[in-house]
Amino acid sequence: MNKQDVLQWLDRHQQEFTRISDAIWEHPELGYREFFASHQQAEYLASQGFHVTHDVAGMSTAFIAEWGSGKPVIGFAGEFDALGGLSQKSQPEQEPVVPDGPGHGCGHNLLGVGCLAAAVGLKQWLSTERVSGTVRYYGCPAEEGGAGKTFMQRAGLFNDLDVAFNFHPSSLTFASKGSDVGVNHMRFRFHGKTAHAGGAPHLGRSALDAVELMNVGVNYLREHVTGDVRLHYVITDGGRAPNIVPDRAEVWYYIRAHDPKNLVHVTERVRKVARGSAMMTETEMEEIFESATSSTLPNGVLADLQYEQMKLVGDITYTEAELEFARKVHEQLGFTPEQALKRLESFQLKPEWRAMAAELVHQPIIGKVLPSLDEGHIGGGSTDVGDLSRTVPCSMLWTTCYAAGSPGHSWAVTAFGATSVGHKGMMHAAKTMALAAIECVLQPDLIQQAWAEFRSVQPEPYVNPIPADVFPPRYQPETNVL
Ligand SMILES: [Zn+2]
Ligand SMILES: [Zn+2]
Repeated sequence: MNKQDVLQWLDRHQQEFTRISDAIWEHPELGYREFFASHQQAEYLASQGFHVTHDVAGMSTAFIAEWGSGKPVIGFAGEFDALGGLSQKSQPEQEPVVPDGPGHGCGHNLLGVGCLAAAVGLKQWLSTERVSGTVRYYGCPAEEGGAGKTFMQRAGLFNDLDVAFNFHPSSLTFASKGSDVGVNHMRFRFHGKTAHAGGAPHLGRSALDAVELMNVGVNYLREHVTGDVRLHYVITDGGRAPNIVPDRAEVWYYIRAHDPKNLVHVTERVRKVARGSAMMTETEMEEIFESATSSTLPNGVLADLQYEQMKLVGDITYTEAELEFARKVHEQLGFTPEQALKRLESFQLKPEWRAMAAELVHQPIIGKVLPSLDEGHIGGGSTDVGDLSRTVPCSMLWTTCYAAGSPGHSWAVTAFGATSVGHKGMMHAAKTMALAAIECVLQPDLIQQAWAEFRSVQPEPYVNPIPADVFPPRYQPETNVL
């Protein structure tokens, strides 16, 4: 079975993959509660001969599906969680299926099934060629605002991998050499004394005052941190009514930094501000550390390998109907294709991009295979792929699954998730990752080179960022979900 045979095999089975992806799109579920999605994927992998272990690392929707034996051990990390409030019909005008309901506004239905298809493609090749190797698909919950992979990492589930692959839907198609920031998800809850706010305010100690003073303190701290640091918050409990001194208030923080040590350092400074505001207001501060993820460690050896495979798979092309769908989405979003390309500059792509963009300017969807344009760029977002990528060499691939410049976490991304445009991006990623994994089996040197780079860019041992006494939340499936 040569590489072209693998590509054809994946093409012949495309309908099975799009069926699962569309089913997950139609049943969007929030993090740690992806019972339907987890079941759909695990059941399919079991039908393909994979051995499935459910409920791993303390998360009911996390699972591992494994096929084969011996070295190398190649992992594909899939996701399947949706986002709240991003319900959207598969159409180019904004209209939710369920008002304020969840939706796949980050395309994780495509992400998970793309990785699953790559795993199945690799299994097909290994079994036909009778070559040694283990394929492992990780069903990873709660990437959005959670940390499924980070909990899986802490449980040691990635420790024996040789390499890992992951892909994410995007506006462009390239293998990433960029990085991002790690994050700590923390709540600070203050406990004060209630009183009648008009009649006896001197008897009250306001927990809301503590929250507000903490935010003021953090906003001054913002001036004296490195440029990569991001500090953002929402007040999740600010009291009941103005005439009651709030005895309880809570603020929810995301604290982000690129360097893991700096993240620990900045978090300690935020804690000092929280303690200070408790002291000022004579309230008690309670810290709730929910989860954390580390910044990603790109791997140039694997990214270059993926680029070579992407060129074999070829550019993604679109029908007139698909382009028309994208033009309508652009109209709704209020920008032209030129402006859409401008928006992509937030990726801080390398200078070569400008010349490429000039050629692509009239295309509302860009399916061209591009080199790794984000080398050296540190984005402001976070993903739990970071903790996988700090344990084992990992390659993160972007493929085009929606109109150029569509905002991440938007109705537009949900709208494309069950269309042929989304399916094409998903299959392109599956093919690229399957071929790259085959090369890793055929050329063990590649794995050694990837590890040499991995060790040189992360000389100090990686430390999982989640404290030992913090565990993921557990939910029960609603009836009739499976
Ligand atoms: Zn997202
Ligand atoms: Zn995402």
